Amino acid sequence: SAQYLDLAVAPADTAFGLMADFEADSHPKKVSLIAGAYRNQNGDPWVLPSVKEAKKRISDATHEYLGIAGSPGFVKQAKELVFGPLTAYLQENAASIQTVSGTGANHVAATFLAKHLRPSQVFIPSPTWINHKSIWQMAGVPIVEYPYYSPSTKEVDMAGMLQSLEQAKLNDVVILQACAHNPTGVDFSKVQWEQVAELVQRKKLFIVFDSAYQGFATGDVDGDAWAVRYFTEAVLASESHPGLCVAQSFSKNFGLYGERVGALHLFVPRSLSAQGARSELMLISRAEYSNPPRYGASIVETVLGDQDLRSQWKADLDTMSSRIHHMRNLLRKKLEEETQRDWSNVEKQIGMFSYTGLTAAQVSRLREEYHVYLLPSGRMSVCGLNESNIDYVANAIGEVFR
Ligand code: PMP
Repeated sequence: SAQYLDLAVAPADTAFGLMADFEADSHPKKVSLIAGAYRNQNGDPWVLPSVKEAKKRISDATHEYLGIAGSPGFVKQAKELVFGPLTAYLQENAASIQTVSGTGANHVAATFLAKHLRPSQVFIPSPTWINHKSIWQMAGVPIVEYPYYSPSTKEVDMAGMLQSLEQAKLNDVVILQACAHNPTGVDFSKVQWEQVAELVQRKKLFIVFDSAYQGFATGDVDGDAWAVRYFTEAVLASESHPGLCVAQSFSKNFGLYGERVGALHLFVPRSLSAQGARSELMLISRAEYSNPPRYGASIVETVLGDQDLRSQWKADLDTMSSRIHHMRNLLRKKLEEETQRDWSNVEKQIGMFSYTGLTAAQVSRLREEYHVYLLPSGRMSVCGLNESNIDYVANAIGEVFR
């Protein structure tokens, strides 16, 4: 019999389901604050000028397959971008491959670690990017959610997190978002990062850094990589570290969402061979998709490999992060006028998203009565705001608070 194929229809992905509802909504003032994709001041998708120029330069490139590990030139640029100037140690001890964007990097990491590190559990932040859970469930590793965000203080729940991680066992995996935490927009301070690093080193936990917003978060490429670099140096300095990896996405910082550009950088314990780990990563990618996509990677490689294009890219990052910051500032002011409450958290948070603190009921009213769409968690994509819709949105939020 074919009983095993008798599957219930899985619930639609929340974000993608809401986007479809938004598309079908004919209200003239509708506003989408759902998607994690940058929009310019007119509410349109934006092709970065640095990317536009790189596309011209590679217009007669071929469509041949890349190798299983992707473009070596791209992988080297990617590695330098996240770790900074490559020391001999970084060069020799990181097993790096190009991946199918950040999602693919997270997935290959989970597959590799489930098979070889065999953690008893993986610790993911609560809340976090929705796909962390799905990816690790697929890999068959038991998931523990560690407290990350405290709705009452609107800050990181440091005590809760440290207490939860104290329960971790040797070689357990901990997912950390490198910057611009999705969905809260709240990051660790440097002091807090140091506390996390102390615990991780003492308990010999394996960190998977998820780096999806480097440069996009604040406009400062090196500043946004501070935590990854600090950890890499601190953890890898120890003789007996279990390793660490970084899943790197170029979706947001290059606006290359649909081109699926990413990389995975994996450090193994000192006594082991990075070459062996790299060949295993290649076996996984070969079996799953053979080789990663060429076009987006060649755009990134072209931009990062050219002084002028790289400067243009930094200006583009500044354009995006400044616009978002400006919208946060305006939203805070308008919401404080509308509601007589403190909204400073909206301005303090960084990156694409804001955890507004709106309840699921308020989010429903915003959608049903005002055609303003957010995730039920109260997560707002700040990129959806612009000078033309911000008054309408602030007023609608004011109404649901009355
Ligand atoms: N990690 C986090 C935290 C993210 O927010 C995202 C994008 N939403 C990703 C990874 C992966 O995105 P992509 O697969 O487009 O690189």
